[in-house]
Amino acid sequence: MRKLELHWKILIGMVLGLVFGFAMTYPEWGKDFVVDWISPFGTIFIKLLKLIAIPLILASLIKGISDLKDISKFRNIGLRTIGIYIGTTTVAIILGLMLVNILQPGNGISDETIDKLTATYASDSGVVSKLEEATRQKESGPLKFLEDMVPDNAVAALGNNQLMLQVIFFTIFMGISMLLIGEEKARPLKNFFDALNDVVLKMVDLIMLTAPLAVFALLANVVVSSSDPEILLALLKYAGVVVLGLFLMVVFYCVLVSVFAKKNPFWFLKQLSPAQLLAFSTSSSAATLPVTMERVEEHIGVDKEVSSFVLPVGATINMDGTSLYQGVAAVFIAQALSFDLPLTAQLTIVLTALLASIGTAAVPGAGMVMLVIVLESVGFPADKYAIGLALIFAVDRPLDMLRTVINITGDATVATIVAKSVGKLGEPHPQEWDDHLDEVR
Ligand code: ASP
Repeated sequence: MRKLELHWKILIGMVLGLVFGFAMTYPEWGKDFVVDWISPFGTIFIKLLKLIAIPLILASLIKGISDLKDISKFRNIGLRTIGIYIGTTTVAIILGLMLVNILQPGNGISDETIDKLTATYASDSGVVSKLEEATRQKESGPLKFLEDMVPDNAVAALGNNQLMLQVIFFTIFMGISMLLIGEEKARPLKNFFDALNDVVLKMVDLIMLTAPLAVFALLANVVVSSSDPEILLALLKYAGVVVLGLFLMVVFYCVLVSVFAKKNPFWFLKQLSPAQLLAFSTSSSAATLPVTMERVEEHIGVDKEVSSFVLPVGATINMDGTSLYQGVAAVFIAQALSFDLPLTAQLTIVLTALLASIGTAAVPGAGMVMLVIVLESVGFPADKYAIGLALIFAVDRPLDMLRTVINITGDATVATIVAKSVGKLGEPHPQEWDDHLDEVR
C-alpha cells in the first residue's frame, strides 16, 4: 500500500481531534477527561518543538553564514528580507482595513449582544491578563525593542526561547566573526555546527512522527475549551471579515511565489502544508519554526544561507496574519462601540499595527495584547479597552489558529522569493518521513 503523505496523516489527526472534542462536550466529565488525559500529549509536542528551536537557529544560522564567501552577500539578504517583510505586512494591514471599512461588521451588532459579551468576558481572566501584559509593554520606550535585541549574557539568551532575537543577534555576530578569522581557523567550530545542524534536523523528523497524535490532542482541547456556539454566531460577520482577509493574503502569496520565484503556487502550498497544519494546531509561529525551516529547506529547495536567517527573523517580526487581524479588530471594536475613526486615525493604525506585529511574541494569543496598543494609538478611551477586548475574545482562538498559518506562510513566501532573487533557490531534496521510522525501529 502506498504510504499516506504526512499532511494527510496530520489532517486525519485534526479531524478526529475535532470530532472527539465535540463528542466530549456532551458527558459531564468530558472536558476534564480531555484536559487531564488528552491535552498533555499536545503540550509535550509543543515543548519538544520549542526545545529544539534554539539549537536549530544557532546551528543553521552559523552554518548559513559561514558558508557565505563574503559578508556583503549577507547584508544584501538581510536588507532585502527586512524590506520585503515590511512591504507584505503593510499590504496585509491595508487589505484588512479596506475589508472592514467596506463590509462594516461592527455596525450590525446589537446593543444586546454587546452587553452580553461585555458581561461574559470583560472581567474574564483571559482579557484581564492581556490588558495587564499590554500595560507592561506600553511602559517601554520606542527603542526598547533594539535594546532588547542585544543580550548581555549569551547563556541566558540561549537558555530562553522567548529571546529569539537575542539568539539571532548573538549567532550572526559569532558567524561573522568566524568568517573574519578565516576558514582554516574556524573549521573545527564550523564542523561542530554542521553536525549539530544535521542532528537537530533529524530530531525535527523524529518529533514529526508524533504530529498526527499531537494535533488530535491539541484540537480536542481547543474544542472542549471553546465558547458557547451562540456567542460564536454573533461574531460570525467579524470573524468572516478576518478569514476573508487571511484568505486573500494566501492569494497574494501565491502571486508573489509564481511571479518572483517562478514556482507553481499550489506545489508551494503543498510542500509547506505540514507546517501550516501545525501552525493551525499550535497557534504558535515559534513552536512551528523548526518544521517551517525543514519544509522550506528540504521540500521547497531554499538554501540554508537564506532560510536560516529569513525564517527565524520572520517568525519573530513578520506577522502578516496578526497585523491584518489587528487592523480589522481595532476598526470592528470602534464600529461596534460607535467610536469615530477618521481616515487619519486609520493611517495611524497602518503604522502602529506594523510596529505592533513586529513586537508581538510568536505565541498563542499574543496578537490580542498588542491590539491594545493599536487601540491606544487612535485615542480609544482607556476605560473601554476591556469592553473592546471582550467583544472579540470569544472567537480569538480560532482566528489565532488561522492567522498563525498566514504568519508562517508569509515567512516561507519571503524566504522563497529572497532565495530566488539571490540565486539560492535550488532543487528540493526531501527526506521521507517514514524512512526515519524504519531507521528508528
Ligand atoms: N499566535 C500568533 C503567532 O504565533 C501570534 C498572534 O497573532 O497571536 O504567530
